[in-house]
Amino acid sequence: VPPPVDGDFYDLAELLTPEQRALQLKVRAFLETEVQPIVNEYWLRAEFPYELIPKLAALNICGVTYQGYGCPGLPNIMEGVLAMEMARIDASIATFFGVQSGLAMGSIYMLGSEEQKQQWLPAMQQMTCIGAFGLTEPEVGSGAAGGLTTTAKRTPEGWVLNGQKKWIGNATFADVIIIWARDVDDNNVKGFLVKKDNPGFQAIKMEDKMALRIVQNGLITLTNCQVAETDRLAKANSFKDTAEVLRMTRAGVAWEAVGCARGAYENALAYTTQRKQFGKPIAAFQLIQNHLVEMLSNLTAMQTMVFRLSQLQDEGRLTDEHASLAKVFCTLRTRDIVSRAREVMGGNGILLQYNVARFVADAEAIYSYEGTKEINSLIVGRAITGFSAFV
Ligand code: FAD
Repeated sequence: VPPPVDGDFYDLAELLTPEQRALQLKVRAFLETEVQPIVNEYWLRAEFPYELIPKLAALNICGVTYQGYGCPGLPNIMEGVLAMEMARIDASIATFFGVQSGLAMGSIYMLGSEEQKQQWLPAMQQMTCIGAFGLTEPEVGSGAAGGLTTTAKRTPEGWVLNGQKKWIGNATFADVIIIWARDVDDNNVKGFLVKKDNPGFQAIKMEDKMALRIVQNGLITLTNCQVAETDRLAKANSFKDTAEVLRMTRAGVAWEAVGCARGAYENALAYTTQRKQFGKPIAAFQLIQNHLVEMLSNLTAMQTMVFRLSQLQDEGRLTDEHASLAKVFCTLRTRDIVSRAREVMGGNGILLQYNVARFVADAEAIYSYEGTKEINSLIVGRAITGFSAFV
């Protein structure tokens, strides 16, 4: 009988309370029974399993850390642990959840007025209302801080938005989309709650992605899209406020990367103990063991890092550079881990049904979204040297 396959080698789960551990295992069981069996098929078809939404909602984990509005109010460590559990089975589902619970609800929770929070958060927590977060544009990705071209013009009736947004997760079926646009009068970035039935709003599904194929990314076009002043995010006054949301969600993406790496490692380890060549399990060969140990070393370092990251977050001490360092390190190491996982599985490593190929593809998207390696490195570089290399 092969030893149990578990990527938590230093037993970090022991640091959770019994209730937190129980929730982790409950969510894991849900993913293994409800998501794992269907995920490769949906990934291949590039479709979203909408039937999972009420089941995910029933877990009552959405809006993980927020207080009130029906949200669970858990510590940040659990936001991370749950993101890891989701990505351990499927990074697309983790991304869908991260957009809903993190980017969209987080923007409203952190930057909305009390009325806006009351209006949106309870339904979003129940997942009867789905959200999206529209920052990136066709011509503006990394340079969003100073370069957004989508405009917001104040009118006597409210605001008029014009421009395009690209890559927006959940955009094709979201009920409310947070649009970040530049106020043409004061040149500051502001956030707007745009409803899907707004006549000036259109979202088209982006086709032909080779990663996170289940995530429905949209190209949004805003044509004289009229938004009431009451739908302007009340406390979003400049890009600094947008960056507050990104700091929180970047920490979550680091955890997602850990989950993606862990899923690939665990599947690959199990495979190597079963697969025989030259009359022996391939796990008995030194060169295979070397791959497995390198994977586990990185995975263990990553997990330790994100645990501490979330502790800093719980203490209110998380900085942009803390989150960026974890995002860079974890997504970079994940690329290495998934590629070794594929390698030790030989040809089967590129077959979807062996549950590693999808992680290899998805790691590429996690590596680039929520700030590329270069951009997050520049954030850390600025903090440790005192010199900004952005300009
Ligand atoms: P670019 O900014 O064009 O960068 C291209 C290359 O140039 C990168 O390697 C980059 O690191 C490098 N580069 C840029 N500037 C510098 C510099 N100063 N120094 C050194 N190198 C530099 N956005 C949203 O708003 N909402 C979403 O829901 C969302 N979901 C996404 C989902 C997926 C699957 C993907 C792939 C993207 C998503 N994005 C979303 C967009 C994502 O955040 C951007 O792709 C990312 O910020 C990078 O921007 P870009 O793709 O335009 O690349």
